[in-house]
Amino acid sequence: MSRKSIVAGNWKMNLDRAKARELTAAVASRAGEAAGVELVLCPPALYVETVGTALKAAGGTSPSGVALGAQNMHDKASGAFTGEVAPPMLVDMCCKYVILGHSERRTLFGETDAIVNAKTKAALAAGLTPIVCVGETLEEREGGRTDAVVTTQVKGSLAGLSPAELEKIVLAYEPVWAIGTGKVATPQQAQEVHALIRALLGSLASAAVAGKIRIQYGGSVKPDNAADLAAQPDIDGALVGGASLKADDFLGIAKAFG
Ligand code: PEP
Repeated sequence: MSRKSIVAGNWKMNLDRAKARELTAAVASRAGEAAGVELVLCPPALYVETVGTALKAAGGTSPSGVALGAQNMHDKASGAFTGEVAPPMLVDMCCKYVILGHSERRTLFGETDAIVNAKTKAALAAGLTPIVCVGETLEEREGGRTDAVVTTQVKGSLAGLSPAELEKIVLAYEPVWAIGTGKVATPQQAQEVHALIRALLGSLASAAVAGKIRIQYGGSVKPDNAADLAAQPDIDGALVGGASLKADDFLGIAKAFG
């Protein structure tokens, strides 16, 4: 089963407008270096329009160009939710992807699997592709609970999705202990969990559907460790935090998945 690799940059709450434009232009102008890899930029919500405009100027936000994504959204389409961003607003701004259930959202903002599940359904209903994040903490890994934690998160976050809906999503396995710490999971550790997730997706839908779903690895991915991760059969790309803030590093990682 061949899956098109997808490498997404999660800029988190970084950069300013000028730097967001600059980084977008640099990535878009060199996207050809990672031919065959789908590239996604996920800026802070306030700069989604800026990045979208810069991508359009460079021929992006199209099937062949660099796609635009958001880092979060609300699950309702509109209403009295001060400070929130609705799924149709992201679509309006030409977003194709939205990261959901990032561990920072889960731990710092109290997002539960039920919340991630509601957002995942809302994203799909709006026509967005959710990148649904799961991953264990260091304590959970050291306590031998990685499989149980990831299983609960995957089942809870994807509850009630039909096989057709499941086929549209992207999953990101991001061990919390590897995010922003410089401690990358070994390719074997990552592959083990990716294989577990794919088997789980098979049980939720079918082996055929599971075979089509892309599963990214995230957690301190850098140009010098990306190739070993990319060589694993169930790792279909990367969700990149820190290294996505430099065009050279982001593209270096993307190339490894080409
Ligand atoms: C992330 O935040 O999704 C992430 C993987 O961050 P980093 O690459 O910096 O570890």
